[in-house]
Amino acid sequence: MAVTDDRAPAAGGATFDSTSPAGGELVGTFPLQGPEQVAEAVARARRAAAWWAGLGFGGRRRRLLAYKALLAGRSGDLVDLVHRETGKPAADAFIEVLLAVEHLDWVARKAERVLRPRRAASTLVLANHGASVEYQPLGVVGVIGPWNYPVFTPTGAIASVLAAGNAVVFKPSELTTAVGCFLADAFAEVVPEQPVLQVVTGDGTTGNALCLAGVDKVSFTGSPATGRKVMAACAERLTPVVLELGGKDAMIVDDDADVDAAAEQAVWGGMGNAGQTCLAIERVYVVDRVYDRFVARVAELAARVRPGADAGADIGPITLPRQLEVIRRHLADAFARGARALVGGPEAVRPPFVDPVVLVDVPEDALVMREETFGPVLAVVRVRDADEAVERANASAYGLGAAVFARRRADRIARALRSGMTSVNSVLTFAGMPSLPFGGVGESGFGRVHGPDGLREFSRAKAITRQRFPLPFAMLSFDRPARLLPAVERAMKLRHARFGRTPPAGQAPRGRRPRSRSGRSRQGRP
Ligand code: NAD
Repeated sequence: MAVTDDRAPAAGGATFDSTSPAGGELVGTFPLQGPEQVAEAVARARRAAAWWAGLGFGGRRRRLLAYKALLAGRSGDLVDLVHRETGKPAADAFIEVLLAVEHLDWVARKAERVLRPRRAASTLVLANHGASVEYQPLGVVGVIGPWNYPVFTPTGAIASVLAAGNAVVFKPSELTTAVGCFLADAFAEVVPEQPVLQVVTGDGTTGNALCLAGVDKVSFTGSPATGRKVMAACAERLTPVVLELGGKDAMIVDDDADVDAAAEQAVWGGMGNAGQTCLAIERVYVVDRVYDRFVARVAELAARVRPGADAGADIGPITLPRQLEVIRRHLADAFARGARALVGGPEAVRPPFVDPVVLVDVPEDALVMREETFGPVLAVVRVRDADEAVERANASAYGLGAAVFARRRADRIARALRSGMTSVNSVLTFAGMPSLPFGGVGESGFGRVHGPDGLREFSRAKAITRQRFPLPFAMLSFDRPARLLPAVERAMKLRHARFGRTPPAGQAPRGRRPRSRSGRSRQGRP
């Protein structure tokens, strides 16, 4: 059944439709809201934010847990809506809902522990002062979401924003507006008192209006190109931004990896959700010794992945019609540069579906190695060793996630990868770990959602000092006695100046004795 939304009508009554990418059926009709409706929503959110902040951690925790319970209880309806609006299989939609529920549960329970006021250490110079820090709500946060994970992705940000005590004005993608409305309407059922989570409906112009509406922060998830526009618009009012952008995630398979497990996860990580995942594995660097075995297994598994709109299909259609052209262009470019397809080929793009494609012999400067393909296309590259794999994986403008399949060198490789997140012997698992921060480097954006860092991202660190007792002579005063600062200077030099001073040649620094490898000083003293 199609939804007709009764949110504030746009000027002139303009509306837009959301349709199913598989069959074109109408999912919903929504107002194309502009600056006026966005400004009204932000004004309502301001009042709601004061009320929501006033509930304190305990009040918010109860309501967020009730919201989580409602979403979990209605997961069937939500999964069905996500399936209709994005085309993704119900199983993929369910995983999204599951992860969103887990994140909501975590922030609801942990926000107080992360953000509550805490004492900070004092220093000798200000020993008569106590210090504390607390994390206060920002006020109103604008959240702009993409279509590829219309539940999980915005909820990851919204959960942290709400738990930190802010109100939200959420602009879902125009492709998945019905899902966005479902999320906000469900919240209004458990928090009917104030519009703490509102949706504004529309396209990029609505998103732009939200950036210019004087919110206290914008959390944007989408493409790097739009991210730049968001940042430029937010700059006008110095509105801070979090940018969660695209990716070109690499997997590294070292010579001691479990090759079958790596192949299975490469196919799932690269082709799940038809590759329309910011964290999709798009490049795989495999060490020479296991390359042939890996490639054979990947080809075998990828050939079994079946696109379709029926209940048994492994992957659905490409949700954004213009992405089909990007995928076609990336494939044509790869073949023109000498790549070979072990699975699929130039004819893989069959709108609205794309068949799985496994490419080998792809040069590093091919589009499919450099730009986000966002389709079920996996490029596998042979490398000499793990060091070469890391070097090639890092030679990307993006840096969102990464995966490593290895034993001995796994941790070393994971650390060396230039990415916000890396999973060892699995793919994408960091996204489902509510205690971990989520975000990228480089073209993949900045700022973090999820976990303690996500909660602090949507808070204002507030520092407070409190004088516990006055000193006879105040240093920070015009009334300080003339001899005070020289005495403080002597004390400062005693305390700080000795440490790390470069000694004259042949002399050890004062205060530090050279130590032998046994840990004893050369003079024989411990
Ligand atoms: P997009 O950039 O086209 O749109 C994202 C959102 O921005 C939509 O709601 C859109 O209406 C809005 N928008 C468009 N123009 C705007 C403007 N000028 N000002 C403000 N808002 C504007 O991205 P998309 O196609 O919806 O999503 C796919 C992209 O999102 C991919 O690049 C994918 O990798 C990325 N993504 C990243 C993450 C992450 O967590 N890093 C998660 C999911 C998707």
